[in-house]
Amino acid sequence: MFDESREGFMTEISSEPTSTPTADDPHTSSSSHPSNSRGPMSKLSKVGQLKRLCQHAAQLRWSNAPHQGRSRQPQYHPSSHSWIRTDDLYPAAYKFAIKARLDLHPTNANKQLWGQQPDGNCRRCGQREDIHHILSFCSAYMPHKTRRHDTILNRIAKSVRYNNRNHQVFINQSPPHIIANGLRPDIVVIHEKEVIMLDVVVTSQHQPDALHIARRRKQDKYSNLALQYQLKGFQVTNDAIAFGDVGHNDWRNYTLLRKLGTPRNAAIRLMKWCVNDTLRSGHHMWIARCTANHS
Ligand SMILES: [Zn+2]
Repeated sequence: MFDESREGFMTEISSEPTSTPTADDPHTSSSSHPSNSRGPMSKLSKVGQLKRLCQHAAQLRWSNAPHQGRSRQPQYHPSSHSWIRTDDLYPAAYKFAIKARLDLHPTNANKQLWGQQPDGNCRRCGQREDIHHILSFCSAYMPHKTRRHDTILNRIAKSVRYNNRNHQVFINQSPPHIIANGLRPDIVVIHEKEVIMLDVVVTSQHQPDALHIARRRKQDKYSNLALQYQLKGFQVTNDAIAFGDVGHNDWRNYTLLRKLGTPRNAAIRLMKWCVNDTLRSGHHMWIARCTANHS
């Protein structure tokens, strides 16, 4: 079972962990070392250490899988996975989420891969239909995507308003003091000479740096607004809170929520809720897809 990862397994046996991770430090808590996710290994019994090493070997194999390994990338915040151990999702959504993360749903692309049908294209738009096509790209599910975005935005907006009661907060409005040309960032917070301008985006996780790419796209979109504020002497943050379509969020989201004045635990809780919203919405889209394909 551990043939492919034996090298990593033996390496870890010979090394001892030295520190306990903190939630604020992405480099310690998201490292691939077996001691980092659940405390120092030196406090465990020999059986516990062996169990930890076996878990780590399995994790290595999972991470190295070219497609399914994307589910476990170190840049993702641990709150991306908290639903796995809780009952936050109802059973059907839970089943959907597990299969979506591992790309095990019978999408047309998978059915073609599994030899069950010759055609892997979407019945609605004719493009190749994998799970990310349904959750992010197919125009047939646009109303679902809009609802998913609005649900997450409303959740974050409540927190932003609560934590910035003495600041100017604009949700989905053209920002003041500049010529916005019709652009309306999802969240704008202005305090004295500082502007925080954020969009909320749920993007396809078809590549490891998908969240980063989505952020850059949003930064480009609002770059002119940011420039106008800078020319007026404001300190500007132009960024995006990005979630993956199969429920991942990263450390940049945490940093941005903290920048918006969200307390540490509230930020983590908020990210968990947003991840759950994403997965529930994904389940609704999958039901819509299956219903349409069978009608
Ligand atoms: Zn389609």
